[in-house]
Amino acid sequence: MEILITNDDGIYAEGIYALATALKKLGNVTVVAPDTQRSAVGHAITITDPLRVVPANRNGKFFGYAASGTPADCVKLGIKAIMNKRPDLVVSGINLGGNLGYNILYSGTVSGATEGALLGIPSIAISLNTFVKPDFAAAAAFAVKLAAGMKKRRLPPGTLLNVNLPNIPRAKIKGVRITNQSRTSFNDWFDKRTDPHGQTYYWMTGDFIPKDKDSASDLNAVNAGYISVTPIQFDLTDFKFIPELENWNL
Ligand code: MN
Repeated sequence: MEILITNDDGIYAEGIYALATALKKLGNVTVVAPDTQRSAVGHAITITDPLRVVPANRNGKFFGYAASGTPADCVKLGIKAIMNKRPDLVVSGINLGGNLGYNILYSGTVSGATEGALLGIPSIAISLNTFVKPDFAAAAAFAVKLAAGMKKRRLPPGTLLNVNLPNIPRAKIKGVRITNQSRTSFNDWFDKRTDPHGQTYYWMTGDFIPKDKDSASDLNAVNAGYISVTPIQFDLTDFKFIPELENWNL
């Protein structure tokens, strides 16, 4: 099995190391990931600057290719320029922080997997719902299980899997729930500050809205101690609204 791995936390993040190390059990792993932190870049690509790619070592051994681009750039580069064979699977993660609800629109992690799906390859995004004291073991183990199962399964064209795990020990995880995207996001706000030159600047921050009422949602699954697996798609058309819009007689 040929596996391409990327992330948005950068090639030196803990989560991508756990993921790549675990997936090596299943086949050839190629890591192409951003050279720095690229969280929340969404599906951006780099078109006005060159992309530099350099080998990255971890623990004294070659680990992968560090690219001066976004997760979507990395997946394109991996498939079209770096790998000798087309991957059977693209996995993006393991992200530090959940990718739940509307936040997936901003997520570089999810966009890495979306790019894989756009290029016709089965793709998975995987995230751990914490920003502190991450334990990536359960997520890495689930990635192996899911990736191994992809050999005999197929995803519909245009569909990818968005996986989120609670940050609890593997033995405490209650199971897997197939979920839908919750209707929740960050309630963000701007910290207004003054720089040393007396100029105002703003720093966006926010609090995650931790609840929603939809029991089938990604957020509620993770909050209840389950692994959440949501099938998502990138065709943004609102098919239900088309008949009504036709009646607008534009
Ligand atoms: Mn991230």
